[in-house]
Amino acid sequence: AKSIGSNQICFYDKSMDQAARERSALAMDMRAGLERGEFMLYFQQQNNTQTGEVVGFEVLLRWLHPKRGLVSPVEFIPIAERTGFIMELGDWVLRRSCQEAVKWGNPLRIAVNVAPKQLANANFPQHVRDILKETGLAPERLELEITESGIIADQQNALSIIRQLKAIGVKIAMDDYGTGYSSLSTLQLFPFDKIKIDRGFIDSVVENRQSAAIVRSTLILAQSLNIPVLAEGVENAEHLRFLQDEGCEQVQGYLYGKPQPLSELQAIVNPPASQ
Ligand code: C2E
Ligand code: CA
Ligand code: CA
Ligand code: CA
Repeated sequence: AKSIGSNQICFYDKSMDQAARERSALAMDMRAGLERGEFMLYFQQQNNTQTGEVVGFEVLLRWLHPKRGLVSPVEFIPIAERTGFIMELGDWVLRRSCQEAVKWGNPLRIAVNVAPKQLANANFPQHVRDILKETGLAPERLELEITESGIIADQQNALSIIRQLKAIGVKIAMDDYGTGYSSLSTLQLFPFDKIKIDRGFIDSVVENRQSAAIVRSTLILAQSLNIPVLAEGVENAEHLRFLQDEGCEQVQGYLYGKPQPLSELQAIVNPPASQ
């Protein structure tokens, strides 16, 4: 008979196989899924902290898998990054987002997530220019959200690409601020149009003095560099009040609205007066 030890090892190996199999199954389903129209764009509003007014939307990808139902991007984006499919998928998100936004009666800004691999591609700026031209979206209505992992691998290359994007007229936001190696020099070196504070800090901002201190110092730093700040994950009135008091310009979170399909947002993107 097998010892408990070898049984445990056996069980562990099997569960790893299982997870790896799931990942490769998802990876294989992705291309077909994109062709079959299983991917959808959701939009989450971003609001002015003082007036509550909608200032734009972040585009968030969803996958309605025929067998698994709604799959979270937290699950499939890392797989797409590993396989390289993110290039095609990211492209699709960008083009579809611009195609939608250009139809709105209300010329709000759209923020689209850009994966590190996309940003590292020397052709990316030309590609963005082509999509803007093809769809007719005004460059200043497009904001690209990039993370620190997208700029630390090769800072000089990232800086060059970001400068080219800015020259086109698109906006650049630093996403998930505070979760990586965010340093003063990163903020000084890169010409960001916005800093998005990660929702992990907002979540505990009212009860945790450390989170509050990080949010406050980020706001002071950003003010001194003249960069507006958006706080993510604003879920309740206490979060909002704190951010209002501390001078944070914009918020995004369940308090104002969850990510939704465009069909649910017609009153905002096509307000009656503009139809
Ligand atoms: P992210 O870019 O940080 O997006 C914000 C996430 O926070 C979204 O999760 C959003 O639904 C969630 N969120 C917003 N407000 C609240 C709130 O008040 N409370 C809580 N608890 N959560 C809130 P989601 O949609 O599941 O996306 C997860 C991540 O997947 C994104 O994080 C982003 O890194 C990635 N992702 C999504 N769509 C794309 C895409 O088109 N391209 C790339 N490269 N990544 C994407
Ligand atoms: Ca984002
Ligand atoms: Ca974020
Ligand atoms: Ca995040």
